[in-house]
Amino acid sequence: MDVNMIIFLNISIIITDGKVENESLSSSSDEAEEQDSDSGINKFSECFEQTMHIFDPNTSENKFNILSELSLDGIVDYIKDNKVTKIITMAGAGISTSAGIPDFRSPTTGLYDHLEKYNLPYPQAIFEIEFFKSNPKPFFVLTKELLPEGYKPTKSHYFIRLLHEKGLLLRHYTQNVDDLERMAGLPEEKLVEAHGTFHTGHCLDCKTMFNLDWMKSKINEDIIPICENCNKGVIKPDIVFFGEKLSERFHTLLSEDFVLAELLIIMGSSLIVQPFASLIDNVLTDCPRLLINKEKVGVESDLLKCYGISRGMNFESGRDVAWLGECDEGCQLLADKLEWGEELKTLMLEEHRRLDSDAIKRKEKADVNSD
Ligand SMILES: [Zn+2]
Repeated sequence: MDVNMIIFLNISIIITDGKVENESLSSSSDEAEEQDSDSGINKFSECFEQTMHIFDPNTSENKFNILSELSLDGIVDYIKDNKVTKIITMAGAGISTSAGIPDFRSPTTGLYDHLEKYNLPYPQAIFEIEFFKSNPKPFFVLTKELLPEGYKPTKSHYFIRLLHEKGLLLRHYTQNVDDLERMAGLPEEKLVEAHGTFHTGHCLDCKTMFNLDWMKSKINEDIIPICENCNKGVIKPDIVFFGEKLSERFHTLLSEDFVLAELLIIMGSSLIVQPFASLIDNVLTDCPRLLINKEKVGVESDLLKCYGISRGMNFESGRDVAWLGECDEGCQLLADKLEWGEELKTLMLEEHRRLDSDAIKRKEKADVNSD
């Protein structure tokens, strides 16, 4: 589910950086100002030339001769030739849509239609921490429809697990709160759930932790989960609401991990939601980046580039590769090229079989208990 898109507002870090840079320029001496003015003119003329296609930016900027070619084959050669062991994967809602998890953004899901009777001041209030504290009911009504029930991880999830099992995964950063990475068997230490998770919840008052199954049992009976320890606090699932900070783990690990990354793979994310979207700029400039997505996203802005601010993907730079299509398809193709294709298919088949059989056992147990 893409609660994430709703939970996070887009904060323009890029513009902030632009201001900082401009401020540092304006505080310099006369001589420096002259140079700055020259460099400004140079930048302007360079940009003008590029815009008018007077010179080819592909040749002037192709300084990253890391990949043999700008394709999945180039990425596979790079992994094999460099014996890469530190891959960071970043994922958004796109890796979960084939699991059947509804996309919040899609108007056809009509998720907000049921909420009218609760007189929300505006739809997003449902994910604001202050509103939740005063009126948690609309959130739980919506949650009942969205809780991962019967959903199974997708091929993309199992591809990430395979990267881990092959000793190639440094860390997986996800925007999703759907718990499917854990369900796919990715160990907790390899996982950063940037926007939190439904896997656990905490009492707003005494902070006692409750698990997903317990929360689900209440929510499915239309009961607001109340703490069994203090008997008064509402249990809030550990997803990040508007007005809440991202976890310390997210901030600590991103400063440690991204400088070490040898390859960044971005899957099924629109790269719009901050601060997640700007993580792609935290890897070193010689670290190749592969985007597996339906469309090209996170592309560097020409305007900012003219001011010397390089942020985002540049698919002409010789470093960034885009594979456009469904995430599962892209992951299978990449696995095929890495000669793990059959292993990926078998892993998913066996794991889905196990999840189905576990679900049947749980149901049988529940039926026995209710008799
Ligand atoms: Zn409590």
